[in-house]
Amino acid sequence: MVYTYRNRETLRDDDFRHFRAKLNDLFEALQTQRLYARQNFSCCGSCASYELSEKLRASQTKRTPKLGFVTYNRQDNQNVPYGYVYLGYSSIGEAEEDRELGRLIVDTATRVGLATEWDGNINSKVRVIAPCKASPIKNPNPTLEVAV
Ligand SMILES: [Zn+2]
Repeated sequence: MVYTYRNRETLRDDDFRHFRAKLNDLFEALQTQRLYARQNFSCCGSCASYELSEKLRASQTKRTPKLGFVTYNRQDNQNVPYGYVYLGYSSIGEAEEDRELGRLIVDTATRVGLATEWDGNINSKVRVIAPCKASPIKNPNPTLEVAV
């Protein structure tokens, strides 16, 4: 779908609570996949990535090493009231393992009832979208329509 500026409006309270609950479901499900899955984690993308990469590396000497991490940081968290959040991720492996992890995140999000946008590129974050925002909204002001 074409996602545009017109959708930049905050969720209603019940839609916001629903989205938060679904994000919790998603991250709980991801935790069970031998991943570090952290919401609202660290101050920014660089710090989150550094901290989780260190944990991931340290876990490799344990009996059940983690396979990767998935997270959104405190800056990303500011988008949740608008009905979306970008998830960063990385595996312990190479590009193909990163791609598999991206697919796993998309599949798991779909399973818990969240919409996603991801181009399959491991350099792109996975965008997770609140269920109520998943269908196109009619644009009351066509001049704001900017296709991405
Ligand atoms: Zn930081």
